[in-house]
This record gives sequence, C-alpha cells and structure tokens, in this order.
Amino acid sequence: MMQVPLSVGSLMEHAESFFPKKEVISQTHDKLHRLNYGEIGQRTRRLMSILNELGISKGDRVGTLAWNHHRHLEVYFAAPGMGAVLHTINIRLSPEDIIYIINHAEDRILFIDEDILPLIEHIHTHLATVEAYVVMTDKAELPDSTIQPLYSYEELLSTGDPSYEFAKDIDENQPAGMCYTSATTGKPKGVVYTHRAIVLHSFALGLADTAAISESDVSMPVVPQFHVNAWGTPFACTWFGSTQVLPGPRFTPKRLAEFIDRFKVTITAGVPTIWLGLLRELEQGDYDTSSLRAVLCGGSAAPLGLIKAFEEKYKIPFYHAYGATETTPLATISRLKSYQQDISQEEKFQERARQGILVPGLQMKVVSDKGEVEWNGKDMGELLLKGPWIADEYYKDNRSLDAFKNGWFHTGDVVTVDEEGTIKIVDRTKDLIKSGGEWISSVEIENAIMAFGPVFEASVVAIPDEKWQERPIACVVLHEGYENKTTKEDILEFLKPQFPKWWLPDDVLFFEEIPKSSVGKFLKRELREQVKARYSPQG
Ligand code: AMP
Repeated sequence: MMQVPLSVGSLMEHAESFFPKKEVISQTHDKLHRLNYGEIGQRTRRLMSILNELGISKGDRVGTLAWNHHRHLEVYFAAPGMGAVLHTINIRLSPEDIIYIINHAEDRILFIDEDILPLIEHIHTHLATVEAYVVMTDKAELPDSTIQPLYSYEELLSTGDPSYEFAKDIDENQPAGMCYTSATTGKPKGVVYTHRAIVLHSFALGLADTAAISESDVSMPVVPQFHVNAWGTPFACTWFGSTQVLPGPRFTPKRLAEFIDRFKVTITAGVPTIWLGLLRELEQGDYDTSSLRAVLCGGSAAPLGLIKAFEEKYKIPFYHAYGATETTPLATISRLKSYQQDISQEEKFQERARQGILVPGLQMKVVSDKGEVEWNGKDMGELLLKGPWIADEYYKDNRSLDAFKNGWFHTGDVVTVDEEGTIKIVDRTKDLIKSGGEWISSVEIENAIMAFGPVFEASVVAIPDEKWQERPIACVVLHEGYENKTTKEDILEFLKPQFPKWWLPDDVLFFEEIPKSSVGKFLKRELREQVKARYSPQG
C-alpha cells in the first residue's frame, strides 16, 4: 500500500473540496458569523501565509488563548497546516500557570481573544519567547495596549494569500498540537499531539459505535477549544463536513439552549457541570431540543440522575465517554451491545452510567499490586492505556518516567471491568478513600447522592481517621428551595440501602457551591481544605 502521511491540513482540504457550502456558525463577542468551509478554507490559507510572513516556521509553537469560535478554528488548521504546532492554552488557569506554560512551550506568537487581552497585559513582560500578539476581534480598531507588536487578526488576514498551499512535506509523526493538563502537584504537564494521532482520533470519532460524527450532524462543542482540542471535534467535524456551531465567549446555559433550538444541533459535547446547567435552563424555558441525537458527556463521571433526566424527561440520548488530555481524548464510550437490549430500563441506565468499552484502535490493561485484575466487575486496579492516539511522554518533563513506564500510559484512574469489558471509574488513585484496609469509591457515593431529588451536586472526600485511616465525608449542594428542608439524615437514609454500612459517609456537610477546576471538575484538594476548616476549632 502507499505510504501517505496523515496530516491535519488534509482534513481542511477535504472540507474545502467536498463541503464548501456547509457552514460554521460562530458566536464572537460582538456578533454571530456564518461562514462556509469554502470561506474558512481560504481564510485558513491566508492565515498560513501570514504566519509564514511573520517568520513562523516548521515546529514553532503558535499559542492560542481563546473561546470556541471560527477564528480559533482557523488557527487550529493554519498552524499545523503549515507545519507549526497549535498550542491551545487554558484561559482559566492562574496567571502563574499560564506564564509557565507559554514559556515552557516556547510559544513564538499568541492569538488571543479581546477579553483575554487584560490578562496578557498583566503578564506579557514575563513571556520570554513571544514575539507577536494577534487579537481576534470584530472591532475595526485595536484597543489601546502596552503590548507590542499587537496585530488585528482581520487586518492581517486581509493582506494574506487565499491560495497559499498546505505544507506537503508533513511527516505524520511530527507535532501538530499541544495542550497542558493541570497536575495535582507541581506545574502543568504538556502533551504533544502528532498529525497521525489527530487524524486517527478523528476517524475514531466517526465510528458508528462511538460518536458517529457525520456530514449530516450539526455539532456544538461546549467543551472548550482550549481543553484537549474540544475533544477533537473541530478536526473530525471539519473533515466530515458537519455543520459546526461554536458558542463563543462566556456562553450561558441559555445561549446553549437557544442555539440547540435555533440551529437544530444534533450532537454536543461537554462536562457534567455544563449539562446540569443546561437541565436547569430547560426546566425554566421553552426550547425545542428534539434535533439532538447525542449529548456526549465526559471529563468526570456522569451521575446516573443526569443521564436519566436527559433521556426520560427530554428524550435526549446521552452518552458517557472517558478520556484524558494524554489520550487525545476519546478512550472509552458507553453504549449497550446489541444483545444487552433486553435488560430492564433501570439496568440499562446503570450500565450506561459506566464509562463504557474501549474504542477500537486502543489497548487497555487494568493492574493492581497483584497483577492484572479479573474482569469480574469487582476487582479494582489502575487503568493503563496504549495506542496511536495515546501520548508516550510529557513534553520536556521528567514526570514522564512514572506516567509512561513500560510503554503504557498510567491513567491514575482506578477502575473495575465487568465481563463485557465495560470499565467503571471508581476513583482517581489519589481520591480513593482507604478505610480499614479496604477501598471506598468516592465517585460511587457522590453519584448515588446526586440521584437524590433535592440534591444539585455532591462530592465526597476523605478525612483522616485515627481508627480507620480515612473516612468519607459528603459535601452537598441542594437545589434552590430545599435548603433547610433536606437534612443529613435524609441523605444517609437514601444511601443506606445502596451501600455496605462502612461505606456510608460519617458526615454530610452542606455547601453553596463545590469548588471546581478550570475545566469544571470537582476540585477535591480545595474541598478537602474547606472540609478541614469546618472541623477545625475556628471553622
Ligand atoms: P483531563 O486531562 O483534564 O481531561 O482529565 C482526565 C481525567 O478526567 C481522567 O484521568 C479521569 O480521572 C477524569 N475523567 C474523564 N472522563 C471521565 C469520566 N467519564 N468519568 C470519570 N472520570 C473521568
């Protein structure tokens, strides 16, 4: 067979050739844009020529600090399309982490949204390698700024060459993108995606038994383009010619609901927090969501109650998927097999609340201290992954040695596997509660609590215990109107029939909000501190 390198640029070329009339609908700060792939392709080519003029060459890192919109999508293809590396930066991280990430990646140019400009003004003197800044704005005039040199995206594009060629000498194993993931301790860790990994991962998103992304889809990624490439959807959707709806800066659940209704969105993707917010909005407003054929949910465990609410109340198919920055990210997705269709409705929900089976193309192993665990749905071990879209190191980081030893990525996630091969994430290795020599899954208890009607959100953390080593404490946020009505005892009563006695939380604390990470996951480190403070004499 022919040896044809897989390249990100070729995905956009395909869209230009075969789907030039299909649209990208994009919300920016000031307005809604509608461009087709013919136009997006030309603008991407213009941008490649500009990057070239600005001195960006093969292997150079092109940083972005931006929301989900068409200009960001164009950088997604222009940087790797001309052989450079797209480096998406999480705008919700602390300024210190952002400085670290930009310097560590040695970004030469930064594309930033106008609302990020104040942050960059604050930190730009610390950015050692950045030579130019480009503001992605609709406004004709650039804001006054101390940053130099500062360009307007649209002004630059207007002088670009619309027929500039995508690089033809791409080695598929060369870097196309990179993204940093927050570490529990220490600085963020960089993951580099090759052209090959991104293209193969895009294929995976198109498989009928995964996300089945296709031309007929109207895809709205809510997961940010600055977090694991919006789960790879911009690449796959462009390649397959799906319509894309990009919800833009600082979107609200209301905007998401309106866009689903107005643009007849068929598939959308995001973390559970987003879907909890959308549910609230659907309850308040009158929206037609009947176009949705799939809500993809990942990033943290999807509570059973959430899946049920979408499917039973709104008839919206809800798919639970699992992955990580290091896995590009799709690794598993939860769908019932054909012969599992005749189990009861409740069992179906239980099954689909698990993280699902491995996506074709990847390999997995689950290991405990005693070796590989049995697929019996009970034994717990750490999930290890291998495959063409799984990272094999962190970028210039000696933490790689542990995480990638023996040719496997050690996910840090503790799972069980049942006889169908379906995994269930029990916990992060560091969040498991070790009580009396046994393990308690904080995730299982929190999901059970979240299935209790009055509860909006719940997170369970360990506190040190003299006798048992650690004991679980439940931290609960109630739905509006239930404060002072639902008690600790109500919650424990609800849990009692579902768990062994020793799994039940020693206490239930009520919170107004559970602290969350920059990508909407429970920040257990912070929560543990808050719990400790409540128990301290001053707290
Ligand atoms: P990140 O690299 O920030 O995307 O985080 C990856 C981590 O998120 C994984 O290692 C898991 O701990 C967690 N995660 C992702 N998807 C799921 C899921 N569906 N259920 C439970 N945890 C998840």
